[in-house]
Amino acid sequence: MSERQATPTRRRGPRLKHIPLRTCVVCREKDAKRSFVRIVRTPEGELAIDPTGKRNGRGAYLCRRFSCWQLAAEGNALERALRTTVPPEFRAELLRYADLYFRRDEEESERRAQPETDTA
Ligand SMILES: [Zn+2]
Repeated sequence: MSERQATPTRRRGPRLKHIPLRTCVVCREKDAKRSFVRIVRTPEGELAIDPTGKRNGRGAYLCRRFSCWQLAAEGNALERALRTTVPPEFRAELLRYADLYFRRDEEESERRAQPETDTA
């Protein structure tokens, strides 16, 4: 039984899988949705970190760079993106989340710059 498939000669560009792209509100880097974490402003006007990306409300995306979360917590990128004010509690929450899940870029590069001496 030979199944008839779509003619293989008709390959016009990459449309095998549609990967939705998101933009980090801080660094403006674009990437696939899964490499971002969604921040949502719920219909009740509350801000929340939404790792599942499924909550109702207006969303903004942050990439997984510690520095972006830090900037989001300290600056107004999220306020611009979500058109709301970001209360200090939520800024603290952003930093907590970043601390928990992302590596601080600076620490990472410092560690790499220092040669380990305990090898061999
Ligand atoms: Zn970013």
